[in-house]
Amino acid sequence: MPAANLIGEEGVGFAIAQARLGPGRVHHCMRAIGTGERSLELMVERATSREAFGGPLSDQGVVATWIAESRLELEQARLLTLKAAWLMDTVGNKRARTEIAAIKVVAARVLTRITDRAMQLFGAAGVSADTPLAYFYAMGRQLRIVDGPDEVHLRTVAREEIRKVDRPVPDPEPAAATTALRP
Ligand SMILES: Cc1cc2nc3c(=O)[nH]c(=O)nc-3n(C[C@H](O)[C@H](O)[C@H](O)COP(=O)(O)OP(=O)(O)OC[C@H]3O[C@@H](n4cnc5c(N)ncnc54)[C@H](O)[C@@H]3O)c2cc1C
Repeated sequence: MPAANLIGEEGVGFAIAQARLGPGRVHHCMRAIGTGERSLELMVERATSREAFGGPLSDQGVVATWIAESRLELEQARLLTLKAAWLMDTVGNKRARTEIAAIKVVAARVLTRITDRAMQLFGAAGVSADTPLAYFYAMGRQLRIVDGPDEVHLRTVAREEIRKVDRPVPDPEPAAATTALRP
């Protein structure tokens, strides 16, 4: 690479690569949530169009529960993604690292869980190339490894929780009251 083609400062390539990891992870989460929405849409289409045992699959309580659970999980993941993005904008990527780590784990889990339910509802078609579900599942599954495996992100979240407890606990009594009670 000719020196004239250098962009940015010499020797800061690694720092730049590290700095892009936070925003990159949130992008993964946004894609995972969008893909999860598509899996849920397909799940509902299948549940309302396929008849078995005298009625549509959506009449089965377990299927209705899968649909509802999928909506709840998507909304929880969406809100945590928005929180992580808001923190990145307001306090910076470094201080938002716990939320970024958390949502990276959550979004991948939600995508695979919802897609797995949708695949089950499609039966054999769900594991074939007739629907995009098997591809979506692979996407979610690889997201548990790409940009750091789940275990490493969970370690970040755990460290922050432990650090909170390690902090010195502030005196609950106001300074004035404490002074007044002293002999
Ligand atoms: C589709 C895909 C695209 C990728 N794209 C990129 C890319 O663009 N740029 C890039 O740099 N990398 C990329 N990667 C690499 C990815 O970041 C690594 O695969 C990932 O960080 C895991 O590293 P590893 O494969 O070396 O596995 P290892 O480091 O050997 O980890 C294997 C397993 O060990 C466990 N483990 C590892 N560390 C810990 C720990 N500290 N605590 C507990 N358990 C642990 C986890 O279960 C982990 O899954 C990509 C990977 C895939 C699958």
